[in-house]
Amino acid sequence: MVKIVVTGAAGRMGKSIINVIRETVGTELVGAVERSGHTDIGKDAGEVAGSGKLGIKLTDNFEKAVKKADCIIDFTFPEATMYHLDIALKNNSAVVIGTTGFSHHQRERLKEVGGQMRIVAAPNMSVGVNLLLKVVSDMAKILGKDYDVEIIEAHHRLKKDAPSGTAMRLAEVLAYSLNRDLDKVAVYERHGILGERKPEEIGIQTIRAGDIVGDHTIIFGGLGERLEITHRAQSRDTFARGAVRAALWVVKQPKGLYDMQDVLGLK
Ligand code: NAD
Repeated sequence: MVKIVVTGAAGRMGKSIINVIRETVGTELVGAVERSGHTDIGKDAGEVAGSGKLGIKLTDNFEKAVKKADCIIDFTFPEATMYHLDIALKNNSAVVIGTTGFSHHQRERLKEVGGQMRIVAAPNMSVGVNLLLKVVSDMAKILGKDYDVEIIEAHHRLKKDAPSGTAMRLAEVLAYSLNRDLDKVAVYERHGILGERKPEEIGIQTIRAGDIVGDHTIIFGGLGERLEITHRAQSRDTFARGAVRAALWVVKQPKGLYDMQDVLGLK
């Protein structure tokens, strides 16, 4: 039985993950953590998640909760994730990180601690998006420099970071496959008289509207034709199932920093 603590337990993803743990054989929720001052602290985590009593109360004491955990599943906020990571390291717990929006410095810290503990970190835990990451790399290599690459992502109005972590990961994969330096070729917005598009640009455009769970489209635009490939997440359950699958997988691995491609055997 893999004992799991969920952080951000009253958040959109946290609630979905708690419901998936409840129905997943071989997993047990042993803690549900929220930020200090959250109005749901002290309430039953299952009731907060909308699926009935679980007997686990939401707490703001991560240090105490982590002591029972084989694995933490963290979908919170970059600063909170970094704090949870340091404590999980001391406790020898594995960590599945779904949080997005890390700074360069925070990503370097992730790599550093990755040598000392078991971590799965991925901006998107869905099977479909991870397959997409593999497929677009092949498409970029085959289509090459004659096809303009543009990424469009759309998410709900409450999302805090932009572009999405998934769009940035797609951009990194595409830049790598095309031998380009993303810092030099990424274009995040266009406005005014800019002149012609440079062939090496990788455009990354953001839409925020309503309750869109998460859409990503990659356009390869050539002369006389274009190829578009789209992934649409219809429910957060797809990410939650991926996160729980990652937890079941990572506890059996040697120390290291892994991603969802490792979990799904796509490398
Ligand atoms: P949300 O705002 O609904 O939930 C985040 C929760 O974290 C909130 O309830 C907040 O109170 C809590 N939190 C903040 N600081 C905390 C702390 N110190 N300790 C414990 N809890 C704390 O957001 P969400 O939609 O659930 O998304 C959370 C993160 O997951 C975002 O970064 C989002 O981009 C990312 N996300 C990733 C995937 C994926 O597949 N990897 C999918 C969806 C969302």
